[in-house]
Amino acid sequence: MKDFKPLDSDEYNVIREAQKAFNDVKQIPCTACEYCKKGCPKQINIPAIFSARNEQLIYGQIEKGQQKYDSLIENSAKASECIKCGACEKICPQKISVVEELASCAEVFEK
Ligand code: SF4
Ligand code: SF4
Repeated sequence: MKDFKPLDSDEYNVIREAQKAFNDVKQIPCTACEYCKKGCPKQINIPAIFSARNEQLIYGQIEKGQQKYDSLIENSAKASECIKCGACEKICPQKISVVEELASCAEVFEK
């Protein structure tokens, strides 16, 4: 530790810029708590769909996200099967506009 050198202001600025760039990335702030899943009448795997979409939004992994989605809907409902009942939105601790986000996922993944 005797060689420890604190970051200088330029280095702090680089870190702040990186944090800002990360925060500016549009992503769905789903924590995968899965509270929404139990009450969904269509049994849509909401967090898994959001995870596939975040793969694209955060990491730019377009194909990987699509593959995740395609394999997910082999055994569960598609994003477009949402009937907009709103049950998930009432329970989501992150206050995510699930209906809107699912519609956007359907647009991207099911085109
Ligand atoms: S709004 Fe859609 S995703 Fe949410 S609980 Fe209802 S059917 Fe499921
Ligand atoms: S309740 Fe909200 S944060 Fe939790 S898994 Fe569902 S969408 Fe994600």
